[in-house]
Amino acid sequence: MSAYIDNYYSRTLTEEIAYPCLEGSAETEICIIGGGLAGLATALGLAERGRKVIVLESKRIGWGASGRNGGFCMGGYALGNEDATALVKKTGLSHAKELFALTKKAQSLIRSRIKNYNIPCNPVDGQLIASWHKNPEEQKHVIDYMNGTFGQNYEFWQQEKVRDLYRTGCYYDATFLPDNFHMNPLRYVQGLARAIIEKGGLVFEDSMAVDVDRKSAVKTVRTAKGTIKANHIVFCGSAYFNSLDKKLSRSCLPVSTYVMVTEPLDEQTMESAIRAPYAIHDTRFAYDYYHPLPENRILWGGRVAYNRTPEKLKSVMREDMLKIYPQLATVKVDMAWAGLMGYSVHKMPLIGQFEPGIWYCTNFGGNGVGPTTAGGEVMARAITGEDESYKLFEPFDFAYTGGVLGPLVAQLVYAGWKFNDWRNSL
Ligand SMILES: Cc1cc2nc3c(=O)[nH]c(=O)nc-3n(C[C@H](O)[C@H](O)[C@H](O)COP(=O)(O)OP(=O)(O)OC[C@H]3O[C@@H](n4cnc5c(N)ncnc54)[C@H](O)[C@@H]3O)c2cc1C
Repeated sequence: MSAYIDNYYSRTLTEEIAYPCLEGSAETEICIIGGGLAGLATALGLAERGRKVIVLESKRIGWGASGRNGGFCMGGYALGNEDATALVKKTGLSHAKELFALTKKAQSLIRSRIKNYNIPCNPVDGQLIASWHKNPEEQKHVIDYMNGTFGQNYEFWQQEKVRDLYRTGCYYDATFLPDNFHMNPLRYVQGLARAIIEKGGLVFEDSMAVDVDRKSAVKTVRTAKGTIKANHIVFCGSAYFNSLDKKLSRSCLPVSTYVMVTEPLDEQTMESAIRAPYAIHDTRFAYDYYHPLPENRILWGGRVAYNRTPEKLKSVMREDMLKIYPQLATVKVDMAWAGLMGYSVHKMPLIGQFEPGIWYCTNFGGNGVGPTTAGGEVMARAITGEDESYKLFEPFDFAYTGGVLGPLVAQLVYAGWKFNDWRNSL
């Protein structure tokens, strides 16, 4: 059986929950390819509506980005994250409002699923966006816009309050987002898989889809040891997808990013740096993000690169933490890991239908914990004929990511961000 990568989350799994490998043939209404957050949210949305679903996962449930991310559950999308201005520019105001609202509903649905399915993923409310520069007017403008136009409840926090809770001179004022939260994402995806089974669905691990025959009304998905016949197929493979569909592969840029977790800190050391439980990131283009974990550990994430992991990942990440909190110089790092995010050129997810019965819901980039549930719900509503809200994503179509040149461009974009951050700090 495939194993999870060794990371903080996989070490928190108290029991080994494994699902069988698909062997032989099976039939279902909907077959979902990819057992990450997007695939599981789609499957659970359908199972909750009484539909027969099967999830096929190449390795383990949540083995991809979904079981190794920072656990920030945010509104909005990777395009602009919590600030909808970029979305409005692309689609116009009323369309952007509908898209943004999907992710706010998704956050509530995630909270209720955690509660209703008893998922022990330890959600902690609140997220702070700490300003790297002194620009309160600009910040207040975004807060007013998001609260007034998008019905949010963002709060402005003055520098004194921020620095009281976060003992660094790097941050100025901040925006607090009370609806956002962080959680243990691997435990969450495991809870989703359990809920799918409870609702009558099936989940198979170590079952990579290697071929899809999509010509007839009933589609056939093949794995190494089995076949599934289904009326609908949903592709949710993101950056870990094989070449099952050329259009999807050509429109996905796999971007590496990294997380580390420190050893447990004693109370005094933690207090010397971080005195709040929230998720936090700063306002640089190439920002760090982090939050405390149980046992007074710190989870710290940041950096992006094209499919490459720095040799000394632990010390590289630790240096990033010490730039903000030099007082943590004695703190050791217990583990560090990399993961791949699937990005579209436009930074929005790809959600839609290729042809009758063949759907896709993928490429959530660096903001996927919340929006994958928005994607899963629009897929579930489309397949059950409830509505066509998936068409809201039509402006964000396939775009070639540039083949071998794409990654180089991504690397250059990141270098550009770092340069801009350096220039802005002068
Ligand atoms: C290190 C890191 C930190 C991040 N931090 C955050 C964060 O704090 N907040 C946030 O919102 N987002 C974050 N993200 C992004 C977020 O994790 C992703 O957007 C989200 O998990 C995407 O979910 P997914 O289901 O689309 O993809 P994945 O989780 O990658 O799942 C795809 C799955 O499909 C499977 N698969 C692929 N091909 C096949 C096949 N042919 N047959 C069967 N199975 C297949 C893969 O094995 C994989 O498990 C982070 C990502 C990384 C890597």
